[in-house]
Amino acid sequence: MTTSTPAELRASLGGIRALVLDADGVLQLRGQALPGAVAAVAALRTRRIPFRVATNISAVHRETLAARFARIGLDIPPEQIVTALSATADHVRRAHPGAPVFVITRPDGLREFGDHPLLSAAEADADGAAAAAVVIGDGERDLSFENMDRAFRLVRRGAALVAMHRNPWWYTPNGVTIDSGAFVAALEYATGVRAILTGKPGPLMFRAAVAGLAADVAAAGGRRLTRREVAMVGDDPGADLGGARRAGLRGVLVLTGKTAVAEVGALRAAGRVGAVAATVEDVVAALD
Ligand SMILES: [Mg+2]
Repeated sequence: MTTSTPAELRASLGGIRALVLDADGVLQLRGQALPGAVAAVAALRTRRIPFRVATNISAVHRETLAARFARIGLDIPPEQIVTALSATADHVRRAHPGAPVFVITRPDGLREFGDHPLLSAAEADADGAAAAAVVIGDGERDLSFENMDRAFRLVRRGAALVAMHRNPWWYTPNGVTIDSGAFVAALEYATGVRAILTGKPGPLMFRAAVAGLAADVAAAGGRRLTRREVAMVGDDPGADLGGARRAGLRGVLVLTGKTAVAEVGALRAAGRVGAVAATVEDVVAALD
């Protein structure tokens, strides 16, 4: 048996009052909605079960992501999305208030930083240029040799190294594609500095998602939400489920993304996954 039985799934989700949903491999893949995703989001709304989408996508602003979701039938406004990028911008504002940072992400994603000072490429190239932090996100073609070299020199001069995530690869319309985590590893290797992780599996995104859910519950007049009453639904045993477990949340693996059915037995044996569902719709159906 690979997926949990309906009874096992229901038992493992007993007392769950809110969900955190990963995006890629749970709700969508390669720009298409995944089986059960549209129905699951609709059911969460109808049943008034609070949820947040927590994704390591870190190239675009949450408004752009919400518009993309809407085009494939997923009704998820920006306020219900936490990205590695939004969590990073929060971290930078808290840890380095008013201090210039050098960020590698796509231009749309830079909007998450609002009016926080950002170092341009030309400023980073100036003699003795310094930054409070270097932030590596899904820069795609902006993860160029020139930008990596700028990042390398700024970290050598004392900038903190911040990684939106460490994902080695992901799915794009082109198929499996190298992800920015591989570039973070390269900078760590070159500088000897370990990056601060703002995306999953780090705790910041889970904390942000739970804080948002707790506010929803409080606004609806419900009793205080605890972390154990929140379940993460993800397709990645490490980034989603490992991170959720360390942050005090429960977790469910779904098989619509990067984990193949054939891998489930070994993951179970290693204690890395518990409840396993075919789709996110099955998870929502198993909630009391
Ligand atoms: Mg995923």
